[in-house]
Amino acid sequence: MAKTNIPYVDRVWNPIVGCTPASAGCANCYAAAMHNRIAAVPNQPNYRGKVFGDVRFNPAALREPAKWRTPQTVLTCSMGDMFHESVPCDTIEQIIATMKGTPRHTFLVLTKRAINLSLYRFPDNVMVGVSIENKDNMHRLDALYDVDCFHRWISFEPLIGDVGPINLGGIDWVVVGGENGRNKNIRECRAQWIEDIYLQCKALCIPYFFKQYGTRFVIDGVNTGSAAFHRKDMPVVDNPPF
Ligand code: SF4
Repeated sequence: MAKTNIPYVDRVWNPIVGCTPASAGCANCYAAAMHNRIAAVPNQPNYRGKVFGDVRFNPAALREPAKWRTPQTVLTCSMGDMFHESVPCDTIEQIIATMKGTPRHTFLVLTKRAINLSLYRFPDNVMVGVSIENKDNMHRLDALYDVDCFHRWISFEPLIGDVGPINLGGIDWVVVGGENGRNKNIRECRAQWIEDIYLQCKALCIPYFFKQYGTRFVIDGVNTGSAAFHRKDMPVVDNPPF
């Protein structure tokens, strides 16, 4: 479970597993689908017989970062939301303390429960991020600015709507991507929405990472339907700030 194909991190780390939907962006939750696949595998005791909505803490995971000898970039809690309402504060404090105790690593945390972030103080090897899928959820960015942390990032993924003007003043990194999947209800991602975000990042020289077009990428009103489509005037992958 440690290695990952998420292109901007070396590995994932999951002291918390499980979640429940928070907003529209959760409708085709990748973690839920992955959880259900793993739960069907006999030799996965942390998943076997569990349902995704059963949010649980794996204390043994706290020992893992100390075992990674070389510096790693780590996505924390890719299989859930570390700031889910059912995760006790002292559990979150233990996870933060573990991250602080292994300063050779860079940890990325990401949540849709942004309002809960301000209860904590984050060390300088943690990038604190919010996931925003459309304009309705831009309030998460306001909450991010209230957090006691050194580095902030935004993941606009799955981007399912225009987000409009973004207050990017204190943001260190932005990731953008359309929704992927085989379900009929996968939402479209329009080129204009991506381009608007890109241009706002470019204007402020904020590193920008374009992750994927998604399954239903729409350009100039036409559904290209292909993640392989490439538009020359829409670059872009900047180097992440870590
Ligand atoms: S918050 Fe994230 S992990 Fe939780 S249901 Fe939504 S998409 Fe899935």
